[in-house]
Amino acid sequence: MPIKWVMKMIYNNVKARMADIISGKGSSLYYYWDINNNKWYVNSGNLKGLNLESQEYNPLEVLLKTGQLTDKNSKLVYERYYNRILKGIKEGVLDDRLSVTIRIPTGKKYDRIYIFAAYFHKDEEGKIDEIAGTGREFTDTEVMDNDILSQFTTDMNPRCYTERLGRMMDANPYDNFAFIQFDVECFKMINDKYGTSVGDEILLYIKEMLAIFCNNDMAWIRLTADVFMIVMKYKDRQEVECFVDTLNTNLSNYGDIEYKLVFGINYVRPENRIKQLRKLGDGAAIARQSIKGNAVKNVSVYNEEMRDVIENRKDLDWQLKKALENEEFVLYLQPKYEITTKKIIGAEALARWNHPIKGITTPNEFIPILEENGLIVNLDKFIWNEACRTIKRWMSEGKKVYPISVNVSRVYLNDKKIVEYMKNIVKEYDIPIKYLELEITETADTKETTDVIKAFKESGFTMLMDDFGSGYSSLNMLKTTPFDVLKIDRHFLNEFMESERGKKIINHTISMSRDIGLKMVAEGVENEEQANFLKECGCLVAQGYYYSKPMSLEQFERMKEEQ
Ligand code: C2E
Ligand code: CA
Ligand code: CA
Repeated sequence: MPIKWVMKMIYNNVKARMADIISGKGSSLYYYWDINNNKWYVNSGNLKGLNLESQEYNPLEVLLKTGQLTDKNSKLVYERYYNRILKGIKEGVLDDRLSVTIRIPTGKKYDRIYIFAAYFHKDEEGKIDEIAGTGREFTDTEVMDNDILSQFTTDMNPRCYTERLGRMMDANPYDNFAFIQFDVECFKMINDKYGTSVGDEILLYIKEMLAIFCNNDMAWIRLTADVFMIVMKYKDRQEVECFVDTLNTNLSNYGDIEYKLVFGINYVRPENRIKQLRKLGDGAAIARQSIKGNAVKNVSVYNEEMRDVIENRKDLDWQLKKALENEEFVLYLQPKYEITTKKIIGAEALARWNHPIKGITTPNEFIPILEENGLIVNLDKFIWNEACRTIKRWMSEGKKVYPISVNVSRVYLNDKKIVEYMKNIVKEYDIPIKYLELEITETADTKETTDVIKAFKESGFTMLMDDFGSGYSSLNMLKTTPFDVLKIDRHFLNEFMESERGKKIINHTISMSRDIGLKMVAEGVENEEQANFLKECGCLVAQGYYYSKPMSLEQFERMKEEQ
C-alpha cells in the first residue's frame, strides 16, 4: 500500500477518534493540533509512567517541560523530534510524517519503549495546517520483538541491507543515488575520555536520530562501531548537500559533548551503476577516509583518483609495519654548533628509513603515517635506544661525549608511562641523564601533556621546546610548562629574517627567553647572515645546513674526530 494512503488512514483514524480525544478517553495517546487556530486536543492516553494528563498543553511540550523524560538520550532525541515538527510547521516539511521511538532504560533486560508519530496534513499551498499524532508504549511482546528486530533494522544484517538496496535501486532504474557514509572522528578518544558507556549512548543516539531524519526512501545502516551509511535517491546534488548539512548540525553533539562527523559521498548516476553495491559504498568510504584528520573539511565527494591514493596509503602502511619489524630504520645525527667557535657541542637524532628499493627516505614520508596509525611510539623508542647506545659507546671508548636530543612525538604524550620508559633506558644503558635531551613540539597544551612534560623535567631530563614560533600556543606553553631550551623554528627564522620588523621580533624573543632563564637553539640556519644576526641577538647555538646536514652515525663520528 502506498505510504501516502497509510498516512491518510492513520490521519483519518485519529480524526475519527476526535470524540475520544476530546473526552480524554482511549488507551493510546492521540493528539490533534489545529495549526491555524493553534488549538490542541489530546486524550489522556495510557502512557504508563508518563502521566500525560494535561488537556491544555501540547503533549509534546508537556513531555519536555515536565522533565518526565529523564533519560538524557531520550530527551535529546525527543527534543529534536519536536524541533523538527516546529521547523516543519514554519518552513513546510518534505515528508508527511515523522516518527520516533524513545527508549527509557529500566536497568533490566529490556528497555521501556514509547513510539510517537506525527502525521501532517497540508493545505493547497503545501503548508501544514493540521497535525495528527499518536503515541503509545510498546507492549512486552513488542519490546521483545523490537529487540530482535533492531538487530536487523538498525545494526541490520549487511546482507538484508544489500538486498533492500538492490530492491530500492531496481525499483528506480533511472534515478540518481547518493551513497553517504559518515563516522565520528576520534571516536576512540571519546571512549577514553568519557567511558565506553557514554560512547555507546552516543552511537545509540545517532541511530535514533537517523530514524528521525531519514524518510522511508532512505536506507540506512550502521556498518561498524561508529560508521554509518545512508543511501538516498536524489534529483540534484543540492538536495543531498542539504540533507548532509542537517545531519551534521543535528547529530554532531550529544548534550554537552561535541564531536566531529566526517562525511564521504559517492554520487551514482544511473549509467554508472554496477552490480556490486558494495563497491558503491566503498566509494563513500574512500571519500570519507580521504579527509581524515583534515581540520577544515568534513565533507568529501568521491572521485576515481581517490582510490589510488587510498591504495597507496594502505600499501605504505603495511610497508612501514614491516620496516619496523625488519629494523629498516636508522639513526641520523645533525650536529649543533656553538656559533662563536663553530664547534660541535651536541646533536639531534633524526630518523631515516633505509628503504630496500628507494634507499634513504626522509621523515615527512613516514612520520605522519606512523603518527596516525599509532606506530610512532615504536620508531621513537628505537631511536632513543640507538641514541643511548651511541652515548654509552662513546663513553666506554673514552671518546668525547656530546648530548643527543631525541624527538618525542606528542601522539603519546598524554600518558605518563612514557616517562618511566625513558627513565628505564637511561638506567639500563647506564648513562648520565644529562646526555639524553628531549625535544617536544609545542602543541595545544592540555593538562595531560603538561603533566607528562613536568614529570620528565622532574626526573632530570633537559627539555627542549621544538619548533618554537611555528604555532599559536608557543607563548602559552612557555607560561605553563617547564622547558630548558627553545628551538627557534626554521620557518619562523627564515620568514622573520626578511623584514626589519621580523628581525626585531626575533631579537626580542631571544632576549625575553634569556630573561626567563631559557637557552636558545636556532634551527634551520642556512647562511652566514643568519648566523651573524643570531650571534648579535645573543643566541649561542645553531643547527642547520649552513653548518651541516643530518648525517649517518659513521659520518658524524668522523667529523667529530676531525674537529
Ligand atoms: P624537526 O624535529 O624540526 O627536525 C629538524 C628538521 O629540519 C630535520 O628534517 C632537518 O633535516 C631539517 N633541517 C635542519 N637544518 C635545516 C636547514 O638548514 N634547512 C632546511 N630546509 N631544513 C633543515 P628531517 O630530518 O626531515 O625531519 C623532519 C621532522 O620529522 C623533524 O622535524 C621531526 O619533527 C620529525 N622527526 C624526525 N625524526 C623523528 C623521530 O625519530 N621521531 C619523531 N617523533 N619525529 C621525528
Ligand atoms: Ca626536533
Ligand atoms: Ca624543529
